Order: sequence, then structure tokens, then C-alpha cells
Amino acid sequence: MLSSDPKSPLTFLKDALMPGPYQCYLCDEEDVIGEDGLCDACRSMLKYMPNPTCLQPLDDITVGLQYCDELSAAIMRFKKHGQKEYAGFFTQFLSVPQEWNADILVPVPMHPFKKWLRGFNHTELLASYLSASTGIPYSAKLLFKTKLSLDQKTIRDPAERRRNMRGSFTADPLVKGLRIVLVDDVFTTGATVYECAKTLKQKGAAAVYLSAVTSPSH
Ligand SMILES: [Zn+2]
Repeated sequence: MLSSDPKSPLTFLKDALMPGPYQCYLCDEEDVIGEDGLCDACRSMLKYMPNPTCLQPLDDITVGLQYCDELSAAIMRFKKHGQKEYAGFFTQFLSVPQEWNADILVPVPMHPFKKWLRGFNHTELLASYLSASTGIPYSAKLLFKTKLSLDQKTIRDPAERRRNMRGSFTADPLVKGLRIVLVDDVFTTGATVYECAKTLKQKGAAAVYLSAVTSPSH
């Protein structure tokens, strides 16, 4: 039930140390200079960002990078075009602070129909890689998306985004008492992860945090 992925550590190391095909993950043109999979130009362009304001029912948020066009394009290659090698690249920008005392990583779930259409859930891959690098187990069987809602990107109004997500998730009662880290790629208005946190806490989760790769400035 609560399991870490035994295959991921080697894969993660390979991706972290030998990013193939030896091209920058962002511009896809320059030769990779560093073990982070970036050329010098892209590395100097990326900005780490302060963590956004966190509101209940989330207990804390960490975000790696400030959102930019190059990251947006790379995320599209990862989740829409199925380039799964990006999971290792993006995981290096995810963090889980020690003081969270996390019990388990939980990927932000995708509706089964959408997952079937896409073939995989990119946040599950991120969570499995983060599990390999932190030693914290992960499970994609504790939180489920049960309502097929509109794509959040098609909705501008934050209140409408919250309404679109309302009642979209269900959680397993096994979350009771657990300190949970939700894993996601982009933190935008937070409508999705706040609804996830609400659902988990209604089932008794002790704490719910978010670790995301990137976020626009808040
Ligand atoms: Zn580059």
C-alpha cells in the first residue's frame, strides 16, 4: 500500500548524471554542460523563487523555479508529448523540507479517463522520482480524482476555478494521521491542490503540504 518504487533510484541517477541525448533539457540545442541537464545560458536564465503564500487547508508550500516560457515548453514536452525523461530533470527542482516530517508523497491525481487518454500521469512520475531521491515513500492509491472537470487552464476566474474543482476528489481513509506531501508540476491559483488538501483533511490527514516544480510570481 505505502510503497516506494524500487526501480527509480537507478533511473534517477542515470538521468541526473547522464542526461541524454546530451542536449540541454530546455533549449534542446546547446550541449549540456552540467549534471543538471542544462546549458550555461539556460541555467543562468532560470530563477529560483521564494515560496508563495500558503493558506489553509495547505500547511506549507515549496516551489523550485519561477515560471517562464522555456519551462512551460519543457513541461508540455513532458506531459503532453510523453517525454518521460523529463521526470528526472524536473525532480531536481522539487524539495521536501526536513521539518515537514513527511510520511508519504502523493501525486496530484488525474481523472482515470484523462490518464487513459494521455497514457500516464506526469505527477506520479515526479512523485516516484522524488521518492527515490528523498527516501520518502509515495502512493498514487490514497487520493483519486473522481469528477471529470474542465481543464483549469481554460478558466481565468479564480473563484470559477475553485468551483470547477469542488467535490472532484476522494481520499482513502488510510490517510488518517499521515503527514502528506502533494506533488505537482505547476502551482498557479492553487484551486486544485487546495481542494486535494481539503479532501485529505476531511479524511483525517494530520498535515498536507505541496511541493511543486514551478509557479508564476504571486
Ligand atoms: Zn539550454
